[in-house]
Amino acid sequence: MIDTHAHLHFTQYDSDRHKVIEECNQKLDGVITVGCNLEDSKKAVSLATSNYRIYATVGVHPHDAVNYDKSVKEELRKLLQNEKVVAIGEAGLDFYRNISPKGKQEEIFRLQIELARELKKPIVIHTREASVEMSQFIRTEMEGVKGIIHCFNGDRELLEAALEHGFFISYAGPVTYPKNETLRETLKDVPSSRILIETDAPYLSPQKKRGKRNHPVYVAYTLKTIAEYLGLNFSDIDRITTVNAKRAFNLPMTKEEKSPKLVYKVRNSLYINLTTKCPCDCSFCFRGKENYVLGYNLNLDREPIAEEYMYRIKNPGIYNEVVFCGYGEPFERFDTLLEVARWTKKMGAKEIRINTNGLGYLITENDSILNELKGVVDTFNISINASTPEEYYPIVKPSFGKESFESVLKFTKDAKKAGFNVVISAVETDGFNRDSFIRFAKKLGVEWRIRNRKIV
Ligand code: SF4
Repeated sequence: MIDTHAHLHFTQYDSDRHKVIEECNQKLDGVITVGCNLEDSKKAVSLATSNYRIYATVGVHPHDAVNYDKSVKEELRKLLQNEKVVAIGEAGLDFYRNISPKGKQEEIFRLQIELARELKKPIVIHTREASVEMSQFIRTEMEGVKGIIHCFNGDRELLEAALEHGFFISYAGPVTYPKNETLRETLKDVPSSRILIETDAPYLSPQKKRGKRNHPVYVAYTLKTIAEYLGLNFSDIDRITTVNAKRAFNLPMTKEEKSPKLVYKVRNSLYINLTTKCPCDCSFCFRGKENYVLGYNLNLDREPIAEEYMYRIKNPGIYNEVVFCGYGEPFERFDTLLEVARWTKKMGAKEIRINTNGLGYLITENDSILNELKGVVDTFNISINASTPEEYYPIVKPSFGKESFESVLKFTKDAKKAGFNVVISAVETDGFNRDSFIRFAKKLGVEWRIRNRKIV
């Protein structure tokens, strides 16, 4: 667990900082203590330098912008030489309190963006009552800069601009407040590879500690709320946000975190990642753009043999379900799929599902694939994403051309007829016709599932 945004060097911790850091060392993998002006940033650097698990950022908060001119850039540059300084910020725009004039805030923010670009450091963004202006900054002035939206407030326009630009979205204590349903709803639209957690300690204590001084270890409350809301386990969100924090701030990663996963656990299901190959190019697909999904690197650099999967699966009977899924299309490796699925069944798997694009007949040029999987696989989740050929081709872009939609349809009907559980699924892309998709599923007599764009 990493608290990606706290102010441990603030005076609120002067009386017991040693004890607070001790607790952080016991319960967290790291804390990033965030600087707000030049003097404050120096304190953050000093604290990080003397504590192994604390990292610092250096920057000028929009409230402090009024006290600086362009010379601050060189001062910050010097501080950024320290290897424990992992980002610039917090920097940004705050038109709620307007402590610094708007023009001055923009000038100092721009300087810090330039520095982030030059030094290839991420920038921690503070934004309040300035979503329109910040979205504009992100879209027009932050090319080549990576960022973190600190203490995200739920603004949709800002979220869209930030996600389009590859930024990370950081949730703090407010996501635990009962009345903040609108903020929690945005969790469903943030891909698992972009979500971070923070405390903003000593401020913004989560609901359970509201009214008290915040503490970096309270980030666990935020984590718990997010896990519950997304229907994931605590350990899933812990893994996801820890790996994301390391990716966002270029912190050292373990070999386990870095290496591509052949099998991986989510909730109490085991997923089998056979390949990165796929004959489609879906408009919403992250394959090839993001290596990490749900806190795992799924970008295989080779095609492992069946025994490597068996060795890692070990005891499939302990999972609710074993799912052939991963980052590519399982039918691309039909022989390995069949061998591993048969072994998994024999070893006591309760349920086996294949998530497929439904193009198995065209990929394998084999009409008997369903016969071979009979008695082994229980469910096919067929990602068809449309209910008509007109809708299908622009979204899925299959390399097999015009016969693809008919082939997916035949596979779906054959699987249903052969007695498999069949679910057709779609991602809600622009122009997707939900009602037509549901009617289509009902006509086929299969279950349906519609997901929003994100990966989880
Ligand atoms: S079928 Fe799945 S893996 Fe293939 S491009 Fe579409 S979303 Fe990506």
